[in-house]
Amino acid sequence: MLAALCGAAPPLSFNIAEAAMAIQHGWHFFMNPGPTNIPDRILRAMDRNTIDFNGAQFRAISEECFAGLKRIFKTEHTILAYAASGHGAWEAALVNMFSPGDKLLILESGFFSLNWGLRGEALGLTIETLANDWRSPADPAKLEARLRDDRDHAIKAVLVVHNETSTGVANDVAALRRAIDAARHPALFLVDTISSLASIDFRMDEWGVDVVVAGSQKGLMLPTGMAFTGVSARALAASAAAKLPRVYWDWRRLLSGTSQAFWNGTAPVHFFYGLQEALRMLEEEGLDQVFARHHRLAEATRRAVRAWRQNDGPEVFATDPRAQSDTVTAVLLPEGHDADAVRQLCLDRFNVSLGGGLDRLRGRVMRIGHLGDLNEPMILGTIAAVEMALELSGVPHGSGGAQAAMEYLISQQ
Ligand code: PLP
Repeated sequence: MLAALCGAAPPLSFNIAEAAMAIQHGWHFFMNPGPTNIPDRILRAMDRNTIDFNGAQFRAISEECFAGLKRIFKTEHTILAYAASGHGAWEAALVNMFSPGDKLLILESGFFSLNWGLRGEALGLTIETLANDWRSPADPAKLEARLRDDRDHAIKAVLVVHNETSTGVANDVAALRRAIDAARHPALFLVDTISSLASIDFRMDEWGVDVVVAGSQKGLMLPTGMAFTGVSARALAASAAAKLPRVYWDWRRLLSGTSQAFWNGTAPVHFFYGLQEALRMLEEEGLDQVFARHHRLAEATRRAVRAWRQNDGPEVFATDPRAQSDTVTAVLLPEGHDADAVRQLCLDRFNVSLGGGLDRLRGRVMRIGHLGDLNEPMILGTIAAVEMALELSGVPHGSGGAQAAMEYLISQQ
């Protein structure tokens, strides 16, 4: 009777295998390059009842948040927010700025740069890609040359991902800005900071960025689901003439000064509770210290990978040391070895989750995220787990990665 109600019982061996996989001890090390760990302080701040999003209490919280975000973006300009993942902010930037057929120049850096371009194409924009191999940063000289060639200024905007999360390559936004200026080209400059904001130095105003795209779930240490755009005065002026259809993302609605100013629909009050706490945490630590901590943990990771590189072992995917990201290291496995199998072993045996390779890098790289709320023992635990997984998977590698990371971290105290 019970079996009839519950359906046929699975074979016993299946149950045991499932149960063995489900048992995990200690903390789950979530070391993907986003979403990131959510600190207890933020979780506790969100553990409160809701309030009226049209009331004075919420207005004060939201004003504190937007003012804090301006300090993080390093801008005096406008910041707008949406209930969305980063894809929403990508789309908001495109539909508010452009008209059908407008030509945009995407600087290729990896999966995310190409995807932003694909979204533009789907919206009816003309996308030109400035090709680049995925292991090195976008070349400012190539950008300058392409823009000098564009004599009739057909290119309306240059789009770049500051920190390419799929490859661990960071682009030099200031140098790219200088290239646009050197070419005396009027193109608008749009930058995706989804895996760099609040982790790697970024300066919207100083670097002349017109639109900044950002998300909640990485350096801001929040759950996924809130996205942002920083909008310069020049971008706001351009958006008045843009003809792509836009409703939810429409900056004019967000800025219209109605009772729901700065929000379309019900504001996600709990996100603002969390954001308020995140901004306080970042400012207590100090942004420069936040960047220095990210650099320290990133460098420890790179030192470990360099030790593994002996015996033709894995290597840091990003080849230019000046462009190696301080938020994510993509580790390229030797030919013939499956990065996903190593990742799976790390998860099953050691409860450590790593990011996988995207698109053409599937199975070739594993990505160690070192951004957000992390400290030295967390990165050392991760490095040790990866080193054990390489050994257990039979991937050739040098030993002493964890030791090299520790020696570097000791030297930084
Ligand atoms: N851009 C970059 C650089 C990213 O890393 C991601 C996601 O990881 C995105 C865009 C897309 O953001 P989301 O997944 O929040 O929609």
